[in-house]
Amino acid sequence: MSSDHERTMLRDAIRSLLQRHWPADKAKALAARSADLTGIWRILAEQGCAALGTDPASGGLQDILVVMEELGRAACPAPMLDAAIINLACSDAGMQAPPFLPDLHSGKAYACVSFGAMDPDSAAGSVTVSSGKISGKINFAEGARSATHFVIFHPAGSCLIVAEASSDHVTLTPTRAMGADGLFSAEFSGATAVSVPVSAACASDMLSISRLCYAARAWGAANRAFELAVAYVKDRKQFGQPVGRFQAVQHKLANNLIALMGVQLSLGNAASHYDRGIDHWRTFAAAAFAYSNMTLRQVSLETHHSFGAIGYAEDHEAPRHFKRVHLDIVRHGGGRQAREELAERYLGEESVELPQYDLGEAGNRFRGEVREWLSKHWPPERRAAYEATDETHRDHDAKFAREMGSTGWLGLTWPKKFGGLERSPYELLALLEETTRAETPRAGAPIQAASWMIYGNPEQQQRYLPEILRGEVVYGMWYSEPNSGSDLASLRTKAVRDGDDWVINGEKIWTTTYWGDYMWLAARTDATAKPHAGISMFIVRTDSPGITRTSIKTMYDGEFCNTFFDNVRVSSAALIGEVNRGWEVLTGSLGTERSFVGTLILTKLVRQFEELCDYIRSLEINGRPLRLDPIVRDTIGGYAAYLEAGRQLALNSVTILAKGSEPTWEAAIAKVFAGELMERFGESALDILGMCATLSAGSTDAPLRGRLEQKLRHSLMWVISLGTNEIQRSMIAQRGLGLPR
Ligand SMILES: Cc1cc2nc3c(=O)[nH]c(=O)nc-3n(C[C@H](O)[C@H](O)[C@H](O)COP(=O)(O)OP(=O)(O)OC[C@H]3O[C@@H](n4cnc5c(N)ncnc54)[C@H](O)[C@@H]3O)c2cc1C
Repeated sequence: MSSDHERTMLRDAIRSLLQRHWPADKAKALAARSADLTGIWRILAEQGCAALGTDPASGGLQDILVVMEELGRAACPAPMLDAAIINLACSDAGMQAPPFLPDLHSGKAYACVSFGAMDPDSAAGSVTVSSGKISGKINFAEGARSATHFVIFHPAGSCLIVAEASSDHVTLTPTRAMGADGLFSAEFSGATAVSVPVSAACASDMLSISRLCYAARAWGAANRAFELAVAYVKDRKQFGQPVGRFQAVQHKLANNLIALMGVQLSLGNAASHYDRGIDHWRTFAAAAFAYSNMTLRQVSLETHHSFGAIGYAEDHEAPRHFKRVHLDIVRHGGGRQAREELAERYLGEESVELPQYDLGEAGNRFRGEVREWLSKHWPPERRAAYEATDETHRDHDAKFAREMGSTGWLGLTWPKKFGGLERSPYELLALLEETTRAETPRAGAPIQAASWMIYGNPEQQQRYLPEILRGEVVYGMWYSEPNSGSDLASLRTKAVRDGDDWVINGEKIWTTTYWGDYMWLAARTDATAKPHAGISMFIVRTDSPGITRTSIKTMYDGEFCNTFFDNVRVSSAALIGEVNRGWEVLTGSLGTERSFVGTLILTKLVRQFEELCDYIRSLEINGRPLRLDPIVRDTIGGYAAYLEAGRQLALNSVTILAKGSEPTWEAAIAKVFAGELMERFGESALDILGMCATLSAGSTDAPLRGRLEQKLRHSLMWVISLGTNEIQRSMIAQRGLGLPR
């Protein structure tokens, strides 16, 4: 299997080759000429592309998808997909190698693959074979005019190879589709066909792979148009400024980036599982295609919005990419078929969990260790007893937090010098997944611990880190004020130096963890400095004299409060970091939390999704299982696809951390995606179950103890707090895409 580095080299090589031989300004004219198509195919074959998939050691599906993405980018319809299907089918041992394989690998042969009657798209055509002669018609055959061989997967467990592509027995009719040329219907009237046996499982897998290849090519096209649009909005001026400064444009492009990253990561995940021979690849492949189908067309439309009329001209590059995306992403039954496959998995007769991600040897082993520990320390009976108490809305159980503390896991990734275990972010992910699955209350203070390690002085580190590690303390945040929400730098709560002390006056609002032991407080220490430069951070005990509160009930049955500070006195040892440099501490600590917030939401969602599927499975409406309802199936299938894309986006942040960098806009992407997916989950549950899903805890018949509707009410928190999703989108556009502030 190739490494990330080798795939980057492959991408660079193919890109530069296509730039030379298939330049953007000539791509349309080149694609119309059969000789140019066979020419580029030979050139690609010389680079080894035509043999990709033959031997997993020299390139597998991940490499094939890289080439497909580059072909999409260059608008080059070379028959990579067709060769890949044949190679993979043969190396999979599900198909006997056809005689023309050596010619295919050298680029002499040009294959056109069809799934005929096996294709879930009923308009794809079908053929019959009798005494070695083939009759019938296949539709939407790409590049058929250049083909030397037609390869048609046949429902009878064979693959029909027609080598007489240019004989009188084959009639080609060009089909204009999406206003573009390149597709044909091929009518066979007695052409000679060699029948190669192929197992049904292999043929069905090749159909899944074909779909992935189309999605990869569509991604390449959509991504290229997107890159052009980003460059264009930086340059194009209206109302005296680059249009890329308008928030409407920035947020649209941020959404596009999220979708494009989600698609590429999902495709890569499916392909990597295939290359490693892990069964789940089929589920991941269906999810990747369904997600591509639901998002790439939107990306394509929205990049056109950013171009305005200039992209509407047929000689601009954008229209060819628009057409490519729309043609490729409805192949083989499109998203509807892929969603149905996912529904079949999650709403089948048996309950199934979402596939677990491979977190590497240490991560996988640790996952088992945590699960084992939780089965003893947080069994369902203990959870039920805890859920019956008033403490649940606080999401904290002091005894459990100390038990967790005794394992050392609250400092799992901390350096050893602070008493940590120096384990990897993947192990932290395993811990997060398992504690979420077991629905434990939270323990530890990861944000503040991370900041203590960076900004605390040695005395503070010695004083505060061990008690966090032991699970003995709870921290909260005093950041927001009535007039300072998103614009936190405008905060007005003051801390004034008085001898060795600081005296605090002002008001904080929406404080969730007001009942904890300590709060991190952001206060203005220099009223004359620029807003960001005059802020300092303090650690303050919640029971300090001079603090009063008024409690506010939240719409999710929780509580937060307004806090008033009246000459609250703290010593100089309460200052975190340097005076007037608090903004650094504040944004640094929020950044740490954001790295994992997407992951946290996604792990919660996985559990909720599985619970909802189990619940649907238990219901009958008018004597018919609800799980068989087509709309329910489509909703669940679509949701499963989004969930996988979300898990990939969250995992991406963890991978960046594991490589020693800090995800910034990448973590914001995971947060935006996950928070909105959580909202959508609640809405989907209402759509599926109707009024029943609105029943709250305590109502008779409330499904899942009223958790469905409560989670919906709670979901808004993830979109508003820790920097609203609008603020995050601006950050993604400005930092991730370099659009002007
Ligand atoms: C459940 C919950 C728990 C919370 N817990 C805490 C806590 O413990 N401690 C704490 O300090 N705070 C807490 N908060 C507050 C939270 O941090 C703020 O709500 C958040 O920062 C947004 O501020 P705001 O509510 O004042 O909204 P505003 O900033 O007033 O925003 C209102 C709307 O305008 C949009 N907007 C604002 N500025 C821009 C811009 N530049 N561009 C585009 N759109 C913009 C926002 O996205 C939003 O849609 C909590 C909030 C919630 C909902």
